[in-house]
Amino acid sequence: MADRTALVISAHSADFVWRCGGAIALHQEKGYDVTVVCLSYGERGESAKLWKQEGMTLDKVKSARRQEAENAAAALGVHDIQFFDFGDYPLELDREAKYRLVDVIRKVRPAFMLSHSKYDPYNTDHMYATQVALECRMIAQAWGHNPGEKILGAPQLYLFEPHQTEQMGWKPDVFLDISSVWEKKRAAIECMEGQEHLWHYYENVAENRGNHFRRNSGGQAGGRAATHAEGFQSVFPRTVDEL
Ligand SMILES: [Zn+2]
Repeated sequence: MADRTALVISAHSADFVWRCGGAIALHQEKGYDVTVVCLSYGERGESAKLWKQEGMTLDKVKSARRQEAENAAAALGVHDIQFFDFGDYPLELDREAKYRLVDVIRKVRPAFMLSHSKYDPYNTDHMYATQVALECRMIAQAWGHNPGEKILGAPQLYLFEPHQTEQMGWKPDVFLDISSVWEKKRAAIECMEGQEHLWHYYENVAENRGNHFRRNSGGQAGGRAATHAEGFQSVFPRTVDEL
């Protein structure tokens, strides 16, 4: 594993593509090893197009979703993608399942983590994934959990952009320029054949956030000419030596 790593915790197997595919591709290019954990395949709740096909079964949906996610991960250069298959709608993790995620967090030792918005009344799996991410981050920091193992430091948890930002109470405080890796993100998005209705929408989101990047990096006074960006909301304060 590289010296610098990152960990994405995705409720369903496609979420990481729309919401932080650019961040993944960019950090892989910068030498990070990015691990993606998909807590479920989104087989029941986010696979409508597959379910409309004749003779569809849960196993067929899962394997199609897994294939799409693996293709997208390859397009982004993901170091490692893991499928936990905990089920969706609703997503639920018992204590053992949480410990499995803690093991991954301790093994990866991420410089930063990425997950969903804190609130999502349309998709409670998403906000549950974030609650689990916070909980498992906390357990990974506990000296009393599997004593003798190296405990986790304090990686930032960035919340990636949800589908309807205002309703989720999500407010970005970071814009990441993903212009240089946009083609990789677009290629990953196109791997999501079951959700073609979202392709254009997320190109549009990236272009709008690119505009916000330009405005916040100096605008007409010489802001960086970003064409595409991703927004994130950070949970924890930053510790700095200079402002
Ligand atoms: Zn989802």
